[in-house]
Amino acid sequence: MYYLFFQSVEIRCPENNDNPDFFLAYAINIDGTSTRIAEASRSKLQDLRDLANKLATKFGWDFNDHTQLKDYSHLNCPKCGNETEVLHDGYCEDCSIEGQRNLNDHIARHDAWGKLSDQEKDSSIRSAARVF
Ligand SMILES: [Zn+2]
Repeated sequence: MYYLFFQSVEIRCPENNDNPDFFLAYAINIDGTSTRIAEASRSKLQDLRDLANKLATKFGWDFNDHTQLKDYSHLNCPKCGNETEVLHDGYCEDCSIEGQRNLNDHIARHDAWGKLSDQEKDSSIRSAARVF
């Protein structure tokens, strides 16, 4: 039974910001190699801790919870860097609203453009480019 060679179990923080809501539990072998044994989203982090703790107790492994070092109750918006309780589409509320407004503006401009005749399009390109 290979798991008997494990000496500890640890929970690691997300390693990059691509997916900051993703936590991993590893069993660490006596030779230093590690095996991924479980994973959890932020909302299930406590379950992951419980599982790791249970395994550590059962098999006599050490339990290292690296997520304790950092407070994960707050998040930072990747756009403005402000702390936020909840991310909306990956951003704080202000940035999310601003992003939605920019998108709406873009759609509105696109729609308006689509309603122009070819002649009107041509003349707006000319006036924008100041070619003539
Ligand atoms: Zn923001």
